Formats: sequence, structure tokens, C-alpha cells
Amino acid sequence: MNASQQIIDTLCSDYYDGRGYFNTGDRRAASFISEQFKNIGLDPYYKNSYYHNFSLNVNTFPGIVSITTSKKSLSPGHEFIISPDAPSIQSKPLTVNHVTKEVLLDKTGYKKLLKLDWETNLLMFDDITHDKTTQKRYDKLLKKYTNPITIRVMQKLTWSVSRIQNDKVTISVLPDVLSDKDEITVNIEAKLINNYKTRNVVGKIVGTEQPDSIIFVTGHYDHLGRMGEACIMPGANDNASGIAMILDLASYYVDNPPKYTMVFIAFAAEEAGLVGSYFFVQDLAKSTPLGSIRFVVNMDLMGSGQEGIMAVNGAVFTKEYELLESINEANKYLPQTKKRGKAANSDHYFFTEAGVPSFFFYLMGPYSHYHDVDDTRENLTLELEPYNGSFRLIRDFVNALMFQEK
Ligand SMILES: [Zn+2]
Repeated sequence: MNASQQIIDTLCSDYYDGRGYFNTGDRRAASFISEQFKNIGLDPYYKNSYYHNFSLNVNTFPGIVSITTSKKSLSPGHEFIISPDAPSIQSKPLTVNHVTKEVLLDKTGYKKLLKLDWETNLLMFDDITHDKTTQKRYDKLLKKYTNPITIRVMQKLTWSVSRIQNDKVTISVLPDVLSDKDEITVNIEAKLINNYKTRNVVGKIVGTEQPDSIIFVTGHYDHLGRMGEACIMPGANDNASGIAMILDLASYYVDNPPKYTMVFIAFAAEEAGLVGSYFFVQDLAKSTPLGSIRFVVNMDLMGSGQEGIMAVNGAVFTKEYELLESINEANKYLPQTKKRGKAANSDHYFFTEAGVPSFFFYLMGPYSHYHDVDDTRENLTLELEPYNGSFRLIRDFVNALMFQEK
């Protein structure tokens, strides 16, 4: 097994609890990454420390998250997920009423729904494309509905992290997991933690010729943690793969000292809304002239690149994008490069908003597991050609930036 696969394997193991807030998995991941930084030979960015500390509010599920019918217990993550802002709930047995388009269109059936007792009944909605009639009836039904639990039938289960707790829960289930008139009991243990302490991990190599010019190489290490103790979200592609890439680039630049200073950052709390990079940029602006930052290369989803690489901001920083494209065309590292405009979808965002040029790179391929229990190291059998190709492309791109005038 090569080094990048080993890093992904480690970060996705149960020991790190999905690198979220359940059982402080994020802190163990931060400590692992800081050890890697040290072993590689990166200097701490701060005086004697790799850590940039901050805190955030976060909703967590430290205990039971279960849905049981009279016949079975649904598999968390595989058959259902709960909205990440869910509160604690211990329900009594509730009867599922499946709201299909047909039911909404059937006058008698619809009237029956309106008269249900919400103490003992809940609604399970199909993902309906509404017409005028169904939309009107759906809106009216929702207005009358008072049970704090709503079920929605979804084609894919995609989880996330919330910084607030709601007083209601939406449960997403895959098709055919629950049927009309099933009786279910919902049990959720939720805990909103205020001012949860977490940390970015930051290391550097001081430039040999122009140490006051800086290139940042970044990516987030956090993921979604666990949805209850029985359900882990490993986040192999998102973003253990990006951390592997950061470590590979850091090793390369320790062996090949760069002309500019290079700063390597593993961000925390990206999945909670880019929180780690937000605080980092806030503090950076107080200590460093932002004009001295030549470029930020942020990497997220670096595991599957059979269809090439996307540069978010490629349409904004056109000169740098042309450079990237020409390097790829000359060397055929990846099947293609593509560009997009700006987007608040990863940790490059607050740098760009502060006036620092950046790209957010993600790889494109057939891999479809995103924010779910199947984004595992087994499913992400790192296809070495795209990973190595993107390593070389990003390395050449960074090297070229150091020799190209702004
Ligand atoms: Zn991500």
C-alpha cells in the first residue's frame, strides 16, 4: 500500500469517529495530522505550535438514533438519516401515513389525512413534483400538521452538520423502507454543544529566495462524525483524500525547498459551514499583509479523477487557469481541466472574499458516495493514475506560480 492510501485508511478508521464532534474524533484527527506535519519536517506555523484554535456551536448525536417498526429496526445511514439539527425525541408508537401524489389528488383520501390525530400519526411524503391542486393541498396539510416528526422518501441519503438545534426532525428514508400504516417508534439522543473547541492544523516551509511571498496549500480534515453511536460517516473522498494530497505535497516541498514560503493547512469544521477557514482568514488578516499571498490552492474530494479536475475560480483567475491548462496539456497528467466561477463550497472561499487569489480543486470521476456511510476507504479504491496525475499537475502548477509574475 502506498503512503496516500495509508493516510486515507487511517483517517477513515473507527478510531477517528468520522472526524466530527462525536467523542471528539476531530481532535484525535488534528493530533494525527500535526504528528504527520512534524515527521515530514514542516515547521509549526505558530510559535511552537501547529494549532490554530477556535470554537463553534454544534449539534451532536452521542447516543441512540433509532427507528423501529413492529418487525425490525431500520439501519441508520443505510436506510434512513435524520436532519442534522434534530432535537432529542422519544416518541410513542406512531402510524405512518404515506402521502403520495395519488393520495393528494384523491379528494376522500386527502380529507381523511386532514382529520388525523397528530398525537398518534405521522406523515411520510413522497418527493412529489406538484401541480396546482397537489401544491395547494400539500401546503394546507403541512399547515395543519403538528407532529414534530416528518418523514420524506428520498432517492439518496445525504447527511450534514448543523450548528443549531431545531425543535422538529425530518427523517429521510430510502424508497420502500417504510410502508403506509407501519407503526414506528423514533428514539433520538441529541446534544447541542456550545463553544465546542476544535482546531486547524498549520505548518510551513520558509521560502529560500522570497520568504515574504506565500503560497497556501489547504484542505479540510473534518467530516460529519457519527449519527448516533452505531453510524459512522468515514469521509474517504471527503476529505481524507485531500489531506493525503496535502501531506504528499508537503513531503515533496521539504525535499525540494521552494522559493516562496509555503503554508500547509488542514482545516477543521468545513462541513459545519467553512468555520475553520473563516476564523483562520480573520486572524491572518491581522498578522499578514494579504497582498503577500501569491495564491491559495485548496483541495477537497481528491480521490476519483478519471474525468479530470475542476478549478473553482478558474473563470475568475484566468491567467492562472491558462497556466494550469497548459501544464496539463503539455504533460497529459489528467484527461481534462475544467473551470467554474466563484462558489462558497469549500475553504478557499473566505480567502477569495478577502481579495486573495485562489483555486479550489476537486477531481471528477464516477465515484458517487457523498456525505454518506458509503464514502469509505474500501469504496474509494484510490485509482492511482488520477491521484498521481493530479499530484503532478498541482505540483507543477505551484512551481510555475513561483516563477510567474503576478
Ligand atoms: Zn469536503
